[in-house]
Amino acid sequence: MKNLVAGNWKMHLSPGEVAGYAGRFISGTADLAGKVDLLVCPSFPALPAAVAAFRGTHVAVGAQNMHQELSGAFTGEVSGAALVDLGVGWVILGHSERRHVYGETDALVLAKLKRAHELGLRPIVCVGELLEERDRGETEAVLGRQFYQSLAGVGPTLAVKTVLAYEPVWAIGTGRTATPETAQEAHSFLRRLLRETLDRAAEGVRILYGGSVKPDNARELMAQADVNGVLVGGASLDPEKFAAIARAGA
Ligand code: PEP
Repeated sequence: MKNLVAGNWKMHLSPGEVAGYAGRFISGTADLAGKVDLLVCPSFPALPAAVAAFRGTHVAVGAQNMHQELSGAFTGEVSGAALVDLGVGWVILGHSERRHVYGETDALVLAKLKRAHELGLRPIVCVGELLEERDRGETEAVLGRQFYQSLAGVGPTLAVKTVLAYEPVWAIGTGRTATPETAQEAHSFLRRLLRETLDRAAEGVRILYGGSVKPDNARELMAQADVNGVLVGGASLDPEKFAAIARAGA
């Protein structure tokens, strides 16, 4: 299974900065085409520029969120149908900042996941425990709840087409990466849950690690048996650093 190296730009990089970034990232990863799957997820206003800049290249474009309804009176929200119309292929759902800053629940993430699949968007569903949950020994309970309530709910046919991202909240944007062993422990637990739900098809589901991934720790993380790529925040804002992470996954 090829690794997927995905960048979450969060609320950084404006539309005017996309073309310059894309030129540097495309040339820095040209020799990796076919060896690793690459994805960038800009903020909504930067998506049209990103779709244009990466069209026909080895780099896919995704959104960081979407609404669960197709249209309606939802001021400030963005429909998945509009993303498809723009030429966006992927969407991140249930990122910890959505769950913890904006109060997104497992039920909401599941509704968004169903809609994303219905629209043919390829979803990345994020799960992960808070530091206090890890300290209380609740990591598996939290991951299990998030997995069953926000991913397994779509049923086996669609679950197979979903990418899972394990992002321990204490490692996101903190500079504190999970050790490769800690990551593998959580990933192998998630793989076990996938096997219970999907049987042998579980082996084909990618589980990404996210949380302070950098060029110098990416290789060791992706060397773990159940780590099938990375979801990168801060280090994806620099095209050379992100290209180095992509290289580690190839
Ligand atoms: C993220 O935003 O998903 C993330 C993992 O951020 P960072 O790499 O900055 O920790």
